[in-house]
Amino acid sequence: MFDPILVVVCCAGLGLTLSYFTLGSSRLPHQFQEKNSEDVKDNENSRPAKRRVMFVTAHPDDEVMFFGPTILHFTQREGALVYLLCLSTGDHYDQGRVRSKELWESCHLLGVSRENILLYRCDDLPDNPSIVWPTVRTANLINQYLHALDIDMVVTFDSGGVSGHINHSSLYSALQHLVEEDYLPENCEAFSLDTVNILRKYSSLLDVPLSYALSSCAFTVDRKQYSIIQRAMRAHISHNCDLSNDVQVMQIT
Ligand SMILES: [Zn+2]
Repeated sequence: MFDPILVVVCCAGLGLTLSYFTLGSSRLPHQFQEKNSEDVKDNENSRPAKRRVMFVTAHPDDEVMFFGPTILHFTQREGALVYLLCLSTGDHYDQGRVRSKELWESCHLLGVSRENILLYRCDDLPDNPSIVWPTVRTANLINQYLHALDIDMVVTFDSGGVSGHINHSSLYSALQHLVEEDYLPENCEAFSLDTVNILRKYSSLLDVPLSYALSSCAFTVDRKQYSIIQRAMRAHISHNCDLSNDVQVMQIT
């Protein structure tokens, strides 16, 4: 339940980045709806099936920098089955292998299972802030996993990309294509993270009521979750990690 005391602590701590930590669907036509657990049953044991949520990001660190509270909501509060599809290793500065390892560490802290991390290295989807990723190609790549994993909720950036990175915006274009062409799996809902203007971005606590009012859904974190996010963020600034094979990187040809 919404706890104003914890939110105050959280907002003070998160400060300038608070406005990133809200989730909305203002630009995609699908609306968030709590699924009626009576409608979704596991056939074998008659227990309610877990929601299957996929976050689609462009670079290692997007998952915590922009989606941290949302991921924690689904891993901790809903107990959903959470997947992360990251479409580049973040090798713009030739640090792809290091950042891949950091992604695994971050996801571990956020509660995303190692086997649910899908990390791609693809020549035509480079980590580059000046290159727009091809929409249909990106959409097809995303959609194959939405269908294969029977995803019922997909979350990515909106057209503004939150930080303005073109790779982020490309993901929105791809998901928008899937929505408009009705290619998403049946019952799969699509959401985008709201990009806010610079005034809201730097208004910290004052933006909380606006986020709740203007977004179709929003998530805040308590102190414990805030600590988790801090640690996950720190996982992305380590440059001395062991380059082991912990993360499976899939090469697309
Ligand atoms: Zn990014």
